[in-house]
Amino acid sequence: MDEMNIRPRKCMFCGRTMPRMVGGNGVYICEDCARNSNELFSTLKEYDSDKKVFMQKEVPKPVEIKAFLDSYVIGQDQAKKVLSVAVYNHYKRMESALSMDGIRHADDDIELQKSNILLIGPTGTGKTLLAQTLAKFLDVPFAIADATTLTEAGYVGEDVENIFLRLLQSADYDVKKAERGIVYIDEIDKISRKSDSPSITRDVSGEGVQQALLKILESTIANVPPHGGRKHPNQEYIKLDTTNILFICGGAFGGLERVIEKRLAKKTLGFIKDKSDGADKLRDSDFIFSKAEPDDLIKYGLIPEFVGRLPIISTLNHLTVDDMTHILVEPKNSLVKQYKKIFGFENIELSFDKAALEAIAKQALKKKAGARGLKAMIEKILMNTMFDIPNNKKIEKCIVTKEAVLGEDSPQLIMRPQKETAV
Ligand code: ADP
Repeated sequence: MDEMNIRPRKCMFCGRTMPRMVGGNGVYICEDCARNSNELFSTLKEYDSDKKVFMQKEVPKPVEIKAFLDSYVIGQDQAKKVLSVAVYNHYKRMESALSMDGIRHADDDIELQKSNILLIGPTGTGKTLLAQTLAKFLDVPFAIADATTLTEAGYVGEDVENIFLRLLQSADYDVKKAERGIVYIDEIDKISRKSDSPSITRDVSGEGVQQALLKILESTIANVPPHGGRKHPNQEYIKLDTTNILFICGGAFGGLERVIEKRLAKKTLGFIKDKSDGADKLRDSDFIFSKAEPDDLIKYGLIPEFVGRLPIISTLNHLTVDDMTHILVEPKNSLVKQYKKIFGFENIELSFDKAALEAIAKQALKKKAGARGLKAMIEKILMNTMFDIPNNKKIEKCIVTKEAVLGEDSPQLIMRPQKETAV
């Protein structure tokens, strides 16, 4: 018998002897490494003909990620930093799992676990925008899901696996691409366990969904119904490995401040000022939220296993008038830039007075929906003007004044100077 068959065959990459291996001439590769190398190829950039090698995509550094976020998201500095580091580590972890040298060797017990992210912050302050902008920067597929529409299997509503259908669509049904995507799950606070629920039936909207989400947040092979809807036994599924999908969950967690306050008050008596008002109150609330810990979330109603799957927690602040004014003007695709462009199609120069921007910001703050209401407000202010302008070629400029914002006047229109006609 030849010597090769007596000695245990070892994978030339990871050194392990595995039940399923392919090879010949004394060289073997195990099933895991073969799969990994296959995945590795799907992460490669185009062929570099000079070097005669495939180049691997470089994971952008946290500073680069944050700089990109800065150009779309105003404020939320801490959250941007936390996300940049988390995302960098996530894709590095993936890279190391895929690279040949990174494959676990017998003496390397350090397995990097996935770190999904929880964003806590008031509505309309940029949680979804952050997740979306990250996906844009990394050029990975992205899907948004609303936790309140999800149910555990067997109940009326959406199966958690349907989330991946949107991810697959965003990846043009390229499964490998989708497996490196980002999923944002909104309103995660709404599926907290309602311990005081008088219902004797199962808590359909709460704990059951958390249990269902638990599985997909870690490594599992999800069965995705290709056309969405409910699963049924005779259906063919698309199989999707969730190991490398980054989940970002977000929620406002209203009432969590009381849980945190209670814990903090035990240690720091007198810490809480309850006389603060207005902007001070919001700042105090942001400060209290920034102290959120996993235990607080468990007390709030998230099950411990679920909290355990979201090891990175970051909080977002309430937006101030100043933030809101910046949001109107500064981001790459800010509302002011967008409306200027729309008016530009009619050869009209649109501008907003400083006082007008501030008035819009203040009104939006009153609505307590963060920056979410800004577009509707501008649309309302400019509605009549946008109706009229295509019929009037004489208009050269449109100025949005504070009075126009407050509904006391229309936006100011300035006509083009009339050309002198020869008599
Ligand atoms: P939420 O925190 O509820 O997920 P979103 O990210 O969906 O809020 O924000 C709603 C909209 O408000 C966004 O599409 C964006 O236009 C704007 N917005 C909110 N926060 C910011 C921010 N920090 N910087 C820039 N725009 C923002």
